[in-house]
Amino acid sequence: NKQIVLKDYVKGYPKESDMVLKTSIIKLKVPEDCHDAVLVKNLYLSCDPYMRNRMSKIEGSYVDSFTPGSPITGYGVARVVDSSHPNFKKGDLIWGIIGWEEYSLIKSTEALFKIQHTDIPLSYYTGILGMPGTTAYCGFYEVCSPKEGETVFISAASGAVGQLVGQFAKLLGCYVVGSAGSKDKVDLLKSKFGFDDAFNYKEEPDLNAALKRYFPNGIDIYFENVGGKMLDAVLLNMRNHGRIAACGMISQYNLEEPEGVRNLFCLVAKRIRMEGFLVFDYYHLYPKFSDMVVPLIRQGKISYVEDIAQGLESAPAALIGLFSGRNVGKQVVVVAHE
Ligand code: NDP
Repeated sequence: NKQIVLKDYVKGYPKESDMVLKTSIIKLKVPEDCHDAVLVKNLYLSCDPYMRNRMSKIEGSYVDSFTPGSPITGYGVARVVDSSHPNFKKGDLIWGIIGWEEYSLIKSTEALFKIQHTDIPLSYYTGILGMPGTTAYCGFYEVCSPKEGETVFISAASGAVGQLVGQFAKLLGCYVVGSAGSKDKVDLLKSKFGFDDAFNYKEEPDLNAALKRYFPNGIDIYFENVGGKMLDAVLLNMRNHGRIAACGMISQYNLEEPEGVRNLFCLVAKRIRMEGFLVFDYYHLYPKFSDMVVPLIRQGKISYVEDIAQGLESAPAALIGLFSGRNVGKQVVVVAHE
């Protein structure tokens, strides 16, 4: 059983060499004394920014640290090979928390969802129909209180979450602008995802001026994925009673000292509601979300771009690539084709 193992806790920017490939022996059966467990063959792994936090020694956070010497765990798609759980049987396809390895024995199945629609690419259950899709859905509809005609700004807009938030906002009839880190990504936002406009934040020396150009009358909704300087500039450009969904702050994850945000008083002066949220609190909405999104995918009314890396060995580089913006769309790793 090939596995990707975290060598040791990480400080600063993670490197490929922080993770190593190991091989272990695994019996392809659930052990007799393991009740309610499943043994799965892993097909697709999801690379997600929150995994960076788990590479550090952390306390009191919403997730636990990875254990050095043990395989990395994260969202993925897998097929059940053996089961002692009444709800899962051999052959079932699942998505949820699995190991970065060829086969995983999963003793606690709470974080596993059975895949219902198999006419849709299975890798989508790492993205649009998995955790990032649910994040986009609950963050936009539940946290932002969006209304038709409002102005919406999304950072890291071409990524796993952002590309969907933008399309949800367009479906509702909002004016939508996204920021991303390359010309190709900006083109994708406008041509593939139907954003009204987009810009490359790396080429804007003055983010405040850039936002003023795209939102002369201000921003009603900011879907926050990056934090730092972008958040500071956005605060200056929010409208009164605007809403900010604080989804993530990837620009801060590798810094030893987080950047200070100077314009927080805008929250008071403009009566802005800024709300942090975690997708884990919203999985009860998954059926509602899936009922909405599956038909949109089938009808081609929503697009999803993936960046697919081949082979378990490519997983460390794929994960690290999130922090330099190497991924174009949802970063997926193929471990095995069915
Ligand atoms: P993406 O697919 O968007 O990948 C990460 C992207 O972030 C990169 O491609 C890069 O794009 C951008 N980025 C990396 N470093 C920086 C930086 N220093 N400054 C600005 N942008 C940067 O990831 P996701 O869509 O999966 O995640 C987006 C955000 O949502 C993250 O902050 C993540 O932590 C958060 N999240 C929160 C959840 C929750 O429950 N609250 C659940 C899931 C995700 P570019 O080239 O454009 O710079």
